[in-house]
Amino acid sequence: MPRRKKIYEGKAKILYEGPEPGTLVQYFKDDATADNGEKKEVFEGKGVLNNRLSEFFMTGLEQIGVPTHFIRRINMREQLIRQVELIPLEIIVRNLAAGSMAKRLGMEEGAALPRPIVEFCYKDDRLGDPLVPEEYIIAFNWASQQDLDDIVALALRVNDFLSGVMHGVGIRLVDFKIEVGRIWEDGEFDRLVICDEISPDSCRLWDIETGRKLDKDVFRRDLGSLTDAYTEVARRLGVLPSNVTHRPKPTLIN
Ligand code: C5P
Repeated sequence: MPRRKKIYEGKAKILYEGPEPGTLVQYFKDDATADNGEKKEVFEGKGVLNNRLSEFFMTGLEQIGVPTHFIRRINMREQLIRQVELIPLEIIVRNLAAGSMAKRLGMEEGAALPRPIVEFCYKDDRLGDPLVPEEYIIAFNWASQQDLDDIVALALRVNDFLSGVMHGVGIRLVDFKIEVGRIWEDGEFDRLVICDEISPDSCRLWDIETGRKLDKDVFRRDLGSLTDAYTEVARRLGVLPSNVTHRPKPTLIN
């Protein structure tokens, strides 16, 4: 079998050419990075968990009519996705103050916000993905005003969906990041879809009862085992890959 063509390698994922035009294969690595790549570690099984979790969230979004790039999971570490024209923004939605917002505004982590807040960062690792105002986005033609209105509407729908799903398993969705891409249909009509991944790498997830962190902050802040935290999220959502489930075998009755 010919070697697949690698299109792009990022910090946590690799994109390969897909089997058909307009498709790509997204491979989830076990690598975790923080501080814009300065802190690095490999967590065995993280890629498998994120592949499953991202499949779970993207499939759920599709079911409620939020378009995503996801087509289907291929195996433990890979999923087939639609090729998109990526909008060079990281779109962050916040329900509670945490992370860079808490730091920037001198707020306590966990402080309530008056409403969910959507912010935009320019996607550029060399610059550390700086926060940018809408004015920059439009002036530099990264997206139009109409795109931005559509992106905010999509981001808030994703927030409602993810918050509800996580709440159902005792987890508070503090904040998350999504990326959005453009898909051209019939060469002229374009639509925006959620792309990249949705996983504990890109969300802040706190246990509602104990406040335990179940996301990448466990690695960023050296709070214990990242794989244990992600496994806990997957276990609660019922999406553990079959080789790590510890369900008792069913008793067969004749
Ligand atoms: O660091 P900050 O507080 O701005 O992050 C907000 C949310 O966006 C967090 O859930 C974080 O995991 C996510 N994020 C991300 N990728 C980045 C920056 C932030 O997934 N490059």
